[in-house]
Amino acid sequence: MKMLIPRGILTTLLLILLLTTSNAQYRKEIHIPNILGYQTLKCDFHIHTVFSDGDVWPTVRVQEAWAEGLDVIAITDHIEYRPHSVDMEADLNRPYEVAKPLADQMGIILVRGAEITRNMPPGHLTAIFIKNANLLEREDWWEACVEAREQGAFVFWNHPGWKQQQPDTTRWWPEHSRLMNAGILKGIELFSGDEFYPEALRWAQEKNLTILANSNIHAPSSQAYPSPAAKRPISLVFALDKSESAIKAALADNRTAVLFNDTLIGERRFLTPIFISAIEIKNTKLNLKDQDIKYLQIYNNSDIPFRLHQRQPSIGFSCPEEIILPANRTVSIELTGISEEVEQMTTLKMFYEATNLLTKRGEKLPVNIDVPNK
Ligand SMILES: [Zn+2]
Ligand SMILES: [Zn+2]
Repeated sequence: MKMLIPRGILTTLLLILLLTTSNAQYRKEIHIPNILGYQTLKCDFHIHTVFSDGDVWPTVRVQEAWAEGLDVIAITDHIEYRPHSVDMEADLNRPYEVAKPLADQMGIILVRGAEITRNMPPGHLTAIFIKNANLLEREDWWEACVEAREQGAFVFWNHPGWKQQQPDTTRWWPEHSRLMNAGILKGIELFSGDEFYPEALRWAQEKNLTILANSNIHAPSSQAYPSPAAKRPISLVFALDKSESAIKAALADNRTAVLFNDTLIGERRFLTPIFISAIEIKNTKLNLKDQDIKYLQIYNNSDIPFRLHQRQPSIGFSCPEEIILPANRTVSIELTGISEEVEQMTTLKMFYEATNLLTKRGEKLPVNIDVPNK
């Protein structure tokens, strides 16, 4: 009797064979379109290693970042909290120096950073694009922050609503205003590790802070994100090119968005072009008639699923109230002609809001889909 193996299983078997017989490494590219002449860089600016309280060696952080499709990382070990200091040399620049040669080889931009780790206020602050982490080790947190500014650092407030430091409320302290007024504090984490801080979104909007989402990873990545569903949070940086100076300029200019748990938050000027570039209408012309049903095919070429809710009815035809455009999939949607008017329309206009795309004001992003009809 002939045994038939379905083609899908055969392909999987071949892939497993390939993966187990070669020593090649694989990178999962993250698909998010470039927009407005900028490159959309996928970044994680808050990462720990054994040099502070993390569990892994700095080069492993580079390998993880490469395999997970990141473009840019900052290793940001704690200045003041080093539980492995008995075993690890104390020079605070070592994690960067250890990781840099591999990062260069793998095409990962490694940004030099450190976490200034204090009680609240001001809590934990990360300084990136620093020149010498050793000089940030100061008795007085203010002096450490001034030193970071002297080194040209970009400083952001980490996990601002961390319950261990703000158990009852998430508040903005006078110390943070002082840091802002001195031109030191420029960014804030909206999402850190596995926590979202909605208050931070309000502050970012009011105070014009650059928004970030980072992993604050301590464990090996395979442990922190064991399944494809548990995705690492990322900061998207819209940079003129993939260089350290362009990334720094983008952060200073508020050109970021954050992606965590399939939620994308950012200014409308970035989110709208991401949505428009990510979707593609597959039909050439629909030729929808009154009382007729046609199937509209929409392809989402990005890794971000879009959950759409109708915000106003269309003229001349009806379309679903809810649509999900899954990542990297084409969806077929039923459109029904409901008046003769539709037969004269060259473009069918659909009006939705993306419920998982939030503006910096915390509003759902309005999106329009134009379908060629005649
Ligand atoms: Zn921290
Ligand atoms: Zn941290």
